[in-house]
Amino acid sequence: MTYTEWFYQHGDKHKAIMDRLTHLSADEVITYFRFENMVEKEPDFCELYKENKKCHDIPGLNCYLCACPNFRFKEKGYHEREGKTLYSTCSIASKEGGQFISEDAIHQDCTKCLVPHSESYIKNVFDRDWFEMMENVC
Ligand code: SF4
Repeated sequence: MTYTEWFYQHGDKHKAIMDRLTHLSADEVITYFRFENMVEKEPDFCELYKENKKCHDIPGLNCYLCACPNFRFKEKGYHEREGKTLYSTCSIASKEGGQFISEDAIHQDCTKCLVPHSESYIKNVFDRDWFEMMENVC
């Protein structure tokens, strides 16, 4: 599956959950999306839930903003640099972000970045429509 395919499939799953949570306030929705609750109530939302595994092993991991509104991705790549194609970047140049560099490609590495998983950040950018929040991603 390409990133773009995953992106739209994930957005549809997010929407299906949100369509069931219209009775909850924004704060309650954010609480609902805490990892521990999601593993129990929404086992199909993330592949890792089946193994009770987190993408980032931190307490208080929140899954509302998976993916990240600051991620930028272009299926065909942005440009070539020294024989490598740049496929993704971080729009805020997060200091926790990095790059995966292979022989012919450069990808944004979000492994160490916790920006979209913190509840204070989610509250700041909160929108019930996931596609709205992610409108600039790809
Ligand atoms: S480095 Fe952090 S803020 Fe930047 S795109 Fe990745 S997760 Fe988002």
